[in-house]
Amino acid sequence: MKTREEALALDRDDPLADLRSRFALNPQVIYLDGNSLGVPPLAAAARAQAVIGEEWADGLIRSWNAAGWYALPRRLGDKLAPLVGAGAGEIVVTDTISINVFKLLSAALRLAAARDGKRRVIVSERANFPTDLYIAQGLIDQLDRGHVLRLVDDPAELPEAIDDQTAVVMLTHVNYRTGYMHDMTALTKIAHRAGALALWDLAHSAGAVPVDLRGAGADFAVGCTYKYLNGGPGAPAFAWVAKHHQDAISQPLSGWWGHRAPFAMDAVYAPDQGIGRFLCGTQPIVSMALVEAGLDVFLETDIGAVRHKSLALTDRFIELVESRCAGHALTLVTPRAHAQRGSHVSFAHPHGYEVMQALIARGVIGDYREPHVLRFGFTPLYTRFVDVWDAVETLRDILANESWRAPEFAARHSVT
Ligand SMILES: *Cc1c(COP(=O)(O)O)cnc(C)c1O
Repeated sequence: MKTREEALALDRDDPLADLRSRFALNPQVIYLDGNSLGVPPLAAAARAQAVIGEEWADGLIRSWNAAGWYALPRRLGDKLAPLVGAGAGEIVVTDTISINVFKLLSAALRLAAARDGKRRVIVSERANFPTDLYIAQGLIDQLDRGHVLRLVDDPAELPEAIDDQTAVVMLTHVNYRTGYMHDMTALTKIAHRAGALALWDLAHSAGAVPVDLRGAGADFAVGCTYKYLNGGPGAPAFAWVAKHHQDAISQPLSGWWGHRAPFAMDAVYAPDQGIGRFLCGTQPIVSMALVEAGLDVFLETDIGAVRHKSLALTDRFIELVESRCAGHALTLVTPRAHAQRGSHVSFAHPHGYEVMQALIARGVIGDYREPHVLRFGFTPLYTRFVDVWDAVETLRDILANESWRAPEFAARHSVT
């Protein structure tokens, strides 16, 4: 891709081009942050209107049954399942990733202890998204049974770190900062061979790259709906448990939504059969209802086509930044190998924060992650090749003119 005309030609030939019209996009903005917060599907506003104006206002309490509110966590889970290689009855949409990590990691540690009481190690990466590590640390404190969190500094160290003391291998499939993607099948196999369980975080994978939880033989997974699935800010996350574990395990947030018969109002907790036991309490229905608008767009394509375009976009972006912004101290952080790349691209720059603020001021929205990392997300449902071209030209201009040095770009906001 050497000219803007070439980018426009690629857009004309793009089989996904039509899906862009399903989203409410600001024409003044090139949005390269769908890996952090997806854009609104057009259908979301109408859905919100219907939930508030009809189901809530007219249906009132009857809507728990009549509008299907009560069934929503399971029904949306089934709709999401094909995107991550899961089956029906294996996913609930609920809570946040942090809370779901707590529930699933607790369940996994109990299952591991039932098999072999001596296994006390949770293996993960220091570079994992912090909340996953924080939750593990909090759970270890709470259990107070001598569990430890063993963190590796490089993915290559994982096979050696997984041993006969390992209870659970807890990894994020695509790293939030670098965009590095693990081989889920290979690592799950290594975990199982060592007698450990595998818990995967799909925050930067669901809707971005093909995932085959069943094929990989994974045990547990969590993921997000507000990133690549375009569910809306703070939309509920999801939890997946392999079918063969579901009835054998329990989780500590044993709230009434996970009870076998919530409206029996029994004084004693009895877990639901299947994935239902991973629910806890009443869900944010207005927000959850919007998740469906995001999932419906994926019904018009398949994740293979999304991946194909994602790699084409990220390849072009890397190539253009390296050729057109050469000599400006940008270093590629994301792997070049397709098999190790998710759907975002990160470059390090000594003044990454200021450069990103300058880009945002010019309408090119990516984000910044410590230390020094400029992060650009590519979301094939609505990102065009011409957006890649224009974003790189804006970056080139900012670097060449050093306009990022303007004092206002150095002021830190609370969300970067
Ligand atoms: C975005 C993200 C989260 C967010 O967790 P919440 O509890 O939903 O806020 C967690 N883990 C990873 C890997 C993420 O990328």
